[in-house]
Amino acid sequence: MNLPTFLGGVHPPEGKSLTENKPVETLRPTDVREFIYPMGLHIGAPCSPLVKKGDAVLAGQKIGDTDAFVSAPKYSAVSGTVKAVEPRMVYTGAMEMCVVVESDGKYTPAPSLHEALGRKPTPADYVKLIREAGIVGSGGACFPTHVKLSPPKDKPIKHIIVNSAECEPFLNCDNRLMIENPDEVLKGLEFVLEVFPEAEGVIAIENNKTEAIATMTSHNKNPRIKVMPLQVKYPQGAEKMLIWSVTGKEVPLVPALPADVGCIVLNTRTAWQIWAAIEKGLPVHERIITVTGDAIVEPKNLLVPLGLNMRDLIHECGGFTEEPVKVISGGPMMGIAMRSIDVPVVKGTSGILALTKKSAYLAEESACIRCGKCVEVCPMHLEPTSLDHAVRRRDYAEFEALGGMNCIECGSCAYTCPASRHLVQSYKDGKATVTANRRKAAAEAKAKAEAK
Ligand code: SF4
Ligand code: SF4
Repeated sequence: MNLPTFLGGVHPPEGKSLTENKPVETLRPTDVREFIYPMGLHIGAPCSPLVKKGDAVLAGQKIGDTDAFVSAPKYSAVSGTVKAVEPRMVYTGAMEMCVVVESDGKYTPAPSLHEALGRKPTPADYVKLIREAGIVGSGGACFPTHVKLSPPKDKPIKHIIVNSAECEPFLNCDNRLMIENPDEVLKGLEFVLEVFPEAEGVIAIENNKTEAIATMTSHNKNPRIKVMPLQVKYPQGAEKMLIWSVTGKEVPLVPALPADVGCIVLNTRTAWQIWAAIEKGLPVHERIITVTGDAIVEPKNLLVPLGLNMRDLIHECGGFTEEPVKVISGGPMMGIAMRSIDVPVVKGTSGILALTKKSAYLAEESACIRCGKCVEVCPMHLEPTSLDHAVRRRDYAEFEALGGMNCIECGSCAYTCPASRHLVQSYKDGKATVTANRRKAAAEAKAKAEAK
């Protein structure tokens, strides 16, 4: 049977067998230690700290927020005392303003979101409650979910798609969540369908997750929801590819959004979080993380409190088999190689992948041989080699003209390139420079207008 898919893409080694059959284990340290909460690391405005050094906090207490619509508040996962409010290093290697909480090991709970609301939420409260709970996409970019659920009135929503493709190699957190908590994921989607009564719900899963497909199918009793197996191909879980595979609709290029073709895409963990916020009054304060790779003694899926040091997760998995040459936050295709493992787990941490020299071997970059393989696999139908040349010439106008801002940084081109060109670094540079130039031009235009 030909399962739905998209054009382009690649088939990297899956690496899932290390943890796909490992039930989620809970790691909840009860000794006194630091938990670190960055005020940014989501799309939109960073939060301002709501606490100061010396303040007592409870588990599930809000510690950061802002009035900006595009943002999401931050919560402490532990009870204890605020030790500092200061910049700390995060997984990107950058320094971010953080609230540092010294835990007391007791996890004394704060009042639930329901208590603050004063009653059980109704569908009219859902989107507000989702914002209040700090729910963002859990796949890495951390786009605030309440923003997705507030499309313009002239964009009717027909499909709510739960992105359970989990196409990134090595990761199994969504897979395990569907196997172990199918009813909560389904209920989270049902809550969203109450907000969009005209929409159908789709749980889209790559066909290599047979147990998850069977579990979700047997637990689903809602005729408005269907479970849809998809072909196994990377990057099946990228938003635009997923929408194409599920609906056959193409999301127009930047700045168009899924709502322009009547779709909203949510992560599997996001659906679970929506259930937790609406049913239990819980904010985002923990998540499942796959800790894996050939440099990890015992790869596992762990449920951990946010803010915990990544080194503690690796320790829980028996430490390193040998000194890894690369430790990645996320998976091998779209993850970020970390300078240090002494950084906190955040809402977007889906995995920690530690690789030995043998498996992380990187060939040296050589000249482009114009083979065109990168063009064949690009799911956004770009010309990766031309984009790369434009950036290396510092011709950012050309990069923009070639559609470089539409690159989703999936890495399919780099994966297939026989010359091992560092293509994704090139596009990241191109996109960052174009964005900075646009901001500078807008600020100059504003200053000029104000001077008149
Ligand atoms: S795949 Fe690599 S070598 Fe081939 S055209 Fe693209 S950049 Fe050049
Ligand atoms: S150019 Fe961008 S979107 Fe296309 S394959 Fe490369 S990384 Fe992916």
